[in-house]
Amino acid sequence: MRSKFGLIILICLIIGLVVFVFMPRMKKYSESQLLMGTIVEVAVCYDSRTEDKVQDTVDHVWSKLHEISNSMSLQVADSDVVKLNLASPKSVKCSPETYSLLKKAKYFSEITKGAFDVTVAPSIALWKKGSIENVLPNSKEIDNISRFVGSEHIQILPSNYARLLERNASIDLGGIAKGFAVDEASNIFREQGFKNFLIDAGGDIYVGGKNCKNKKWRIGIRDPKDKSRVTHAVELTDAAVTTSGDYERYFEIQGKRYSHIIDPRTGYPQKGVVSATVIAPNAVMADALSTSLCVLNVNQGTALIDALGSEVASFTLLKKGEELEEYVSRNYEKMRVKLESFSKTDY
Ligand code: AMP
Ligand code: MG
Repeated sequence: MRSKFGLIILICLIIGLVVFVFMPRMKKYSESQLLMGTIVEVAVCYDSRTEDKVQDTVDHVWSKLHEISNSMSLQVADSDVVKLNLASPKSVKCSPETYSLLKKAKYFSEITKGAFDVTVAPSIALWKKGSIENVLPNSKEIDNISRFVGSEHIQILPSNYARLLERNASIDLGGIAKGFAVDEASNIFREQGFKNFLIDAGGDIYVGGKNCKNKKWRIGIRDPKDKSRVTHAVELTDAAVTTSGDYERYFEIQGKRYSHIIDPRTGYPQKGVVSATVIAPNAVMADALSTSLCVLNVNQGTALIDALGSEVASFTLLKKGEELEEYVSRNYEKMRVKLESFSKTDY
């Protein structure tokens, strides 16, 4: 009886060894480029069966990212966004991607009750002008502009056409375009048969499947007080994580810093939230929501995240005097891992 048992164990060990030796090894391939005003990294895990397709797929991902960046940039003269802004109130035929993103932008404006709004562009322009001229915008200018702000000014028409109904309205997709680009890139990896990958567009991250060590991806969230440090870490698979905050980009007027995220309901830069991280099933959702959480009252923002289901979570840091107060949504802790177990070279 005992020798029979020993034999079974031996057979199992041999099978395990054979599987281990012949199992295709995962390797990592990654590339980075300067794009959309940030460093974008794409990394993919592949084995001998998919090796031939890696470079072509990564090239395809880059061309998609460039295409999206070009059609959604305010800096590219013939981008869809510039055309829509200049043509208003006339309609413009957009790329299918811009068209789809405009619909999503309107949706996020609706669910955040106007805290997220891509038509905030005229207010952004006012604060930008203020920072160039070193003069604070006055309340009259701020109020005058607020009537051009509101997602109801975006009209979605059939066959990829859209228009801004108000002549002085304009849009800025900066709060959502990177997330969208990351999702489109993820779709390409999946279509080409890669399920384990990471796309990081300057902190707007999506991780597909597992990392190249066959473990869930671990992502560090930077400490807004010291960017070289990580304050929290989360463990994810097939999910996005994005962080918005007032610590990296801001307007400086008369020696004071103002957030680059504007509350569309008031026309003033947001205050209080120093950093907001959102985890969601896709990057466009995470991107729009992390920007929104910087605008919303922290309790309302966290309640909104809780209402969006078990796959959505948030971690918000609120300035209280010299201290930072942490607010986490209901599902956050189950995605969090101890900092001690986080290493930057995890994948
Ligand atoms: P993010 O880094 O994703 O939070 O996006 C910030 C960018 O979104 C800003 O630089 C603006 O281009 C744009 N933005 C600012 N305020 C808002 C807002 N309330 N809703 C939508 N987009 C905004
Ligand atoms: Mg965003």
